[in-house]
Amino acid sequence: MTDLKVRQRYWSRSTVGWPIIRAAQPNGAHRALAQLEARGIVRLLITQNVDGLHSTAGSRNVIDLHGRLDTVRCMSCGHTSPRPELQRQLLANNPAWAEMEGRVAPDGDVDIEGRDYGGFLVPDCPQCGGILKPDVVFFGESVPRERVDRAFEGVANADALLVVGTSLMVYSGFRFVAAAAAAGKPIAAVNRGRTRADHLFALKVRAPSEEVLDAVSAAIKPIP
Ligand SMILES: [Zn+2]
Repeated sequence: MTDLKVRQRYWSRSTVGWPIIRAAQPNGAHRALAQLEARGIVRLLITQNVDGLHSTAGSRNVIDLHGRLDTVRCMSCGHTSPRPELQRQLLANNPAWAEMEGRVAPDGDVDIEGRDYGGFLVPDCPQCGGILKPDVVFFGESVPRERVDRAFEGVANADALLVVGTSLMVYSGFRFVAAAAAAGKPIAAVNRGRTRADHLFALKVRAPSEEVLDAVSAAIKPIP
């Protein structure tokens, strides 16, 4: 993070890739989980995703375990700002990169290898001039303690746990499943592949989560 070259590389790619991230829309699984919350069945949603799509779909009680890409945080003073605001700054600072906006693959993969980012102007914190970083937990960093505690509390208060669309290979998510299992709570999972917690599930459905959650949402009666 303190290496300017690394930050120039990150933010130049991010400038070109952001419009794709921003245009992403919730799918049926996001919508079904929001409906299950509205009907009092899902009480808390813990996500490892950083795209904010569960909130976009209408889920209100969400813990974004690994943070969110649509927020930027200053490493010195903690000031946070919306990513779209920084995008305007990035484009104003680097007009040549603005031309590349929209010319990226539909899967969001930005092929700008070989392009010289040495002259890329990385904006600093508007409050204190500190280093800005997307408000996400990168590989090798740990999830803020307060967030972990809230998630554990949610698991402790839950009757059951539903695991959707994750292999749980990352410990930061797996630990909540382990906690639910240790407390004797039933755990169900919807995932097409193998997961790290297969031995802990009372039920595992190997099917696309969108399909399964839609059916679950349609079948379950609201809790009075
Ligand atoms: Zn700052």
